[in-house]
Amino acid sequence: MQKLLALLSDGQFHSGEELGEKLGISRAAIWKKLKSLEELGLTLDSVRGRGYRLGSGIELLDEQQILPVIEPDITERVELHTTLSTGSTNDWVRELGKLPGDKVRYCLAEHQSGGRGRRGRVWQSPLGSTISLSALWNSGEGTASLEGLSLAVGLAVVKALESVGVRDLKLKWPNDILWQGKKLSGILLEVSGDPTGECQVIIGIGINIRLSDEHLVSIDQPATDLHRICGKAVSRNQVVGELVNSLSHLLKGFSQGGFALFRDQWCEYDAFKGDPVKLVAATRTVHGRCMGVNELGGLMLETDSGVMVFNGGEVSLRKS
Ligand code: ATP
Repeated sequence: MQKLLALLSDGQFHSGEELGEKLGISRAAIWKKLKSLEELGLTLDSVRGRGYRLGSGIELLDEQQILPVIEPDITERVELHTTLSTGSTNDWVRELGKLPGDKVRYCLAEHQSGGRGRRGRVWQSPLGSTISLSALWNSGEGTASLEGLSLAVGLAVVKALESVGVRDLKLKWPNDILWQGKKLSGILLEVSGDPTGECQVIIGIGINIRLSDEHLVSIDQPATDLHRICGKAVSRNQVVGELVNSLSHLLKGFSQGGFALFRDQWCEYDAFKGDPVKLVAATRTVHGRCMGVNELGGLMLETDSGVMVFNGGEVSLRKS
């Protein structure tokens, strides 16, 4: 299927016959493969007499387009892997394992069959419609030094998107990226290792590039994509390159100064700044007014019993 997708990547119409000849298989086999791609979420246009082409605005992942966007001194410190489909890019990067020194491994997939959010919730990533990226970073400072990293990653995503012209983005604690109250991007951090020594951080980022109406309405909360926000196609490969730049700067800064360096900037993008909110945990709900975050990324709520601080975990923030 990867080869078929490569043939379609020029955005032009290709007849079933031509595709079959190029891949050395029958037209029926081509049709079957195209159906499988559609089942993975790919939007295809098919016109009688002309054949098939990628749905408008779909840009496939292409290292040759990503690499020129990455700053030269960062290129040496990253390794990129791309694939058509995987269960979850977080699992894939974990399987590939760490790279020597401070090199960061990045895994990107056109489609995830088991993309997940926090607490096992499903993250939808139809083929060609989102960025599903996971980075594996080794820190020698211990898991205890990583407080606030997931918030800082949210800020890095916002900065990358701003560099391609996206405006009015907000951050919802701990790390959702919203536009006009709709979810554009989610982040899933998975940390393992020594509390005070070597540890491994997997940073998973999902960003919607262009979802079909059907996919959008199947998400059980308001969601959006870059195409709808900008009113035009946004280059997926350019966004990936800018994400790599932005994450590299963030990881460098974070290892020197932790979340404290990013706190003020994070608060500027706070979606609920000063708003009445509720914090929903498994056994209780706390009502209060959002007062931003502290130097470790903990959420500060002004409540009837004074200011309370919450440090992530099994809690969800909602507008009251
Ligand atoms: P929380 O406030 O607890 O972080 P959340 O509902 O945003 O809540 P996450 O675990 O961050 O939870 O993300 C998973 C949720 O995101 C899903 O349950 C679904 O509502 C939503 N979702 C799934 N796929 C997408 C997508 N492609 N774009 C936007 N939202 C999505």
